[in-house]
Amino acid sequence: MKFCKTVITFLFFFGAVFSGFGQKKAQHPKKVIFMIGDGMGVAQIYAGLTANKGHLNLEQCTAIGFHKNQSADNYITDSAAGATAFACGEKTYNGAIAVDVNKKILPTILEIAEKNGLATGLVATCSSTHATPACFIAHEPSRSMDEAIAHDFLKTDIDVFIGGGRKFFSKREDGKNLIDSLKARNYQIANSIEEVEKISKGKLAAFLADEQQPKFSEGRGDQLVKSTETALRILNQNPKGMFVMIEGSQIDWGGHADDTQYIINEMLDFDNAIGKAIDFARNDGTTLVIITADHETGGFSLNGGDMKTGRVDGKFTTKDHTGVMIPVFAYGPGAEAFSGIYQNTDIFYKMMDALRLKK
Ligand code: MG
Ligand code: ZN
Repeated sequence: MKFCKTVITFLFFFGAVFSGFGQKKAQHPKKVIFMIGDGMGVAQIYAGLTANKGHLNLEQCTAIGFHKNQSADNYITDSAAGATAFACGEKTYNGAIAVDVNKKILPTILEIAEKNGLATGLVATCSSTHATPACFIAHEPSRSMDEAIAHDFLKTDIDVFIGGGRKFFSKREDGKNLIDSLKARNYQIANSIEEVEKISKGKLAAFLADEQQPKFSEGRGDQLVKSTETALRILNQNPKGMFVMIEGSQIDWGGHADDTQYIINEMLDFDNAIGKAIDFARNDGTTLVIITADHETGGFSLNGGDMKTGRVDGKFTTKDHTGVMIPVFAYGPGAEAFSGIYQNTDIFYKMMDALRLKK
């Protein structure tokens, strides 16, 4: 009897302590999943929602904001200056890969997270050396320097990266084979989505294309969803937490091509990855998911549509990027911080605060 009473007291005590911890966790996530739909403005999102007959996984987000995305030298940002703003908290010139207007190196949130013992990752549906993922790990004066950017991947102990760009690592002008260097640093190398899916721990460098991956509709299929699941499974082994950037890279390319169906296919693929991230966050309880874009592409608008049939009448004003405000969506502990209207650079500081990291 006395033993029973002791056990009950013990359970009450620990119940109270753990629920106390639970509340603290609710304010400070240990894990941040940062998702960028390149070129994804409100019309791209709504085209996807309409084609999907009125629903997106994105709608589960509880906090919504907008960011002002102009770069240091242009009203209309490109993906390099846009991603540098998110990764480093500083406005720079179009084309810059995590360097400032004077071409000085800017530390990135991924590098800072890695130094602080968190697990880190990058997932994209383009070459891993392309502007958006590059800005989280490389420092180069120009986005066109794919081979130099590939070399920068060896300077940070990133745990997982999944994308295209194999040739920038292995068929280089300097003759180096960086895939051998990655192997020497205990990376498991995957060259197909089937190989990616088999990995559940350790370090992973995955090359799903020699350069850029194909479109969703031309053979890529659900690789982004599968890559997202694998990355989260591996990174989640680290008890200190994680920072991972996951990009739906080709929504932008649909905009550059003035191709409504291309945008819709890539938007819905990205939304499926968003669904996986939000499911992970819901089960985990210590994960903050943030979804945004660097800029809008195509000056895309919806001149008509039908929620019942999924028909979308898209119209474009340009084949390039535009300067409109970009929505930000957040889910999980700390999501409220992403409400409001703020600069793209503030997203860096909000994520750093969420993970309690210092520059
Ligand atoms: Mg991009
Ligand atoms: Zn673009």
